[in-house]
Amino acid sequence: HQGVSPTPLTPHESTLVEAISNRTLSDWSYYYTHGAHLAGKNFSMAQWTADRWAENGIDSSVVTYNVYIDYPISKSLSLTYANGSVFHPSLEEAVLNEDSTSSYPDRIPTFHGYSANGNASAEYVYVGRGQQVDFRRLIELGVPLEGKIAISRYGGPFRGLKVKNAQEYGMVGAVLFTDPDDDGNMTEANGYAAYPDGPARNPTSVQRGSVQNLAIYPGDPTTPGYPSKNDPLRADPSRVLVKIPSIPISYVDAIPILEALDGHGISGREVNRTRWVGALNVSYSTGPAPGAVLGLSNLMKNTYAPIWNAIGVINGTNADETIVIGNHRDAWVVGGAADPNSGTAIIVELSKAFGALLAQGWKPKRNIVLCSWDGEEYGLVGSTEWVEEYIPWLTETAVSYLNIDVGVSGPHPGIAATPELHEVATETMKKILWMDSGRTMYDVWYEDNEGEIGVLGSGSDYTAFLDHAGIGAIDMGSNPSDIDPVYHYHSNYDSYHWMSKFGDPEFLTHQSMAQYLALLAYKLADDDLIPFNLSNYAVQMSLYYKDLISAINSTSETLDTSALEEAIGYFARCATELKQLEHQAVKGADNELLAAVNHKHRDFQRGFVSQGGIPQREFYRHVIFAPGSDTGYAAQTFPGISEALTAGYTSLAAEWVQKTANGIIVAADIIKP
Ligand code: GLU
Ligand code: CA
Ligand code: ZN
Ligand code: ZN
Repeated sequence: HQGVSPTPLTPHESTLVEAISNRTLSDWSYYYTHGAHLAGKNFSMAQWTADRWAENGIDSSVVTYNVYIDYPISKSLSLTYANGSVFHPSLEEAVLNEDSTSSYPDRIPTFHGYSANGNASAEYVYVGRGQQVDFRRLIELGVPLEGKIAISRYGGPFRGLKVKNAQEYGMVGAVLFTDPDDDGNMTEANGYAAYPDGPARNPTSVQRGSVQNLAIYPGDPTTPGYPSKNDPLRADPSRVLVKIPSIPISYVDAIPILEALDGHGISGREVNRTRWVGALNVSYSTGPAPGAVLGLSNLMKNTYAPIWNAIGVINGTNADETIVIGNHRDAWVVGGAADPNSGTAIIVELSKAFGALLAQGWKPKRNIVLCSWDGEEYGLVGSTEWVEEYIPWLTETAVSYLNIDVGVSGPHPGIAATPELHEVATETMKKILWMDSGRTMYDVWYEDNEGEIGVLGSGSDYTAFLDHAGIGAIDMGSNPSDIDPVYHYHSNYDSYHWMSKFGDPEFLTHQSMAQYLALLAYKLADDDLIPFNLSNYAVQMSLYYKDLISAINSTSETLDTSALEEAIGYFARCATELKQLEHQAVKGADNELLAAVNHKHRDFQRGFVSQGGIPQREFYRHVIFAPGSDTGYAAQTFPGISEALTAGYTSLAAEWVQKTANGIIVAADIIKP
């Protein structure tokens, strides 16, 4: 890959780029990292956000949903050894003099959102990352699971699936710990000092987080498929929530618990599963250790509470085309400097940049809607309820959804996006200078990612837009590599102090990311022709098709996929034909033709939406993309087919070859000139 020289900016683009400043980004970050953030407890921040947008000329308001939610009351964990002695883990993060948010009077205890109330006292088993394959391996090895407590490491699948899997295997509780194995090379074991003295993980850090079953249903668990407005009919939340208690712990607390399993059950080396053995000085044996018992209790307050999305609108000249830009505002901790406040600060700065254009009398072609979501951490609640409320309007007008969650946790940019956005997303990077490197964002991104754009799974607010409503999306952020300071995800140490000392000391990564989002949003909202590459959708589907064929070949099943292959071919031909028309519309500045082509761009992805949803997952309706049922975060392409196949339901898989092909044909018919 050859370095590219930066693409020159138009006057409007220069205005946007110049309006964005690392100094104000740092100010917004400081504001957002010193206060209450939990869903339902952050009204002043919602209002403050709407006020800042309004100051920049954007029509802004705060909208409320009433959702089922829970807050921590108390918890306990003890390890009783066979000889009767007892170890009591601290369960809380150390208070640091250097970092005010860890000593904040209203700091949030460690807990799991949407976790079950209950007590368990039992021998325990180490279950690795807690994926289905891990549990199946334990069964194969004859390790008893029924009635035991699971101790699982974080990493890999979404945490809620670890707890759900443990429950399905008859286990009675779950303890999840952070393993420094996931911290790359910057570990204490490698000689790096721990935060706050250095870049390694603070050993007491704990990852809070939701244990909702997001692969089945995100959003308020009591209002599946409809908004939690006013006083809605409520479904029983226990239908979808886990039933066994769980808590998160740090690695210092995990060491004695894992150590007590050494020499019992099967050693980690013999289990021989991906990422089973971590970086702690223990054997990662399965256990159980006879007589070594964990006592676990978890008490949550289950309640209904208002949550608040801030929504800002810039009306475009084309009232029937809309670009939605979103970021969540709620956090598990007082700080949340990376998650989500790097993104939240960037959205405020973005409003300032658009404000500078609005002040010059600019009006975008398309509506731009800014969204500051509440309740993301519990399960994408604010964004899902909003999509459920506005789905008729979104279906008619939404062009793309742009998401920025953890905008900055390190210096390496990355994106995941639906295929029609790949080209505009990478071309826009060529306009951005990355921090003070003197290189384009494109060059830095290309080198870090080998030119690879990720596939959207779940774990952030694009989910309802893409998977439920069929709206194409991009998610962006800048992350640490193996040799950058460790980011303390969902911990008190994800603080302004960490960000300004280790994560992004000059806020230049914030600045570059804000400039990137601004130019991408501007282009999508203001180009005469919506800048989609539809042929790339066919190219990417062909790649997913190859993956499907390998998946089929790795089973003993046969599956006729010719209908799918033909549908992709048909989509490719329609996209090529449309290209002619696109050229004609742009060249002739033919407004009627432009509108017709733009509406095809806007609408085609709705064709992938399957009424009734993919098997067992009615919320997930996109036939090309879904979060994997047993990964949560990672995507599954052609999910209806692939997951039926994995489960051994060949006739269901065959049915979904047809349904998926039909979705592609509907989408192709929309773009066909
Ligand atoms: N970003 C949140 C997490 O990964 C999302 C929670 C959810 O989707 O349920 O914990
Ligand atoms: Ca709902
Ligand atoms: Zn987040
Ligand atoms: Zn988060």
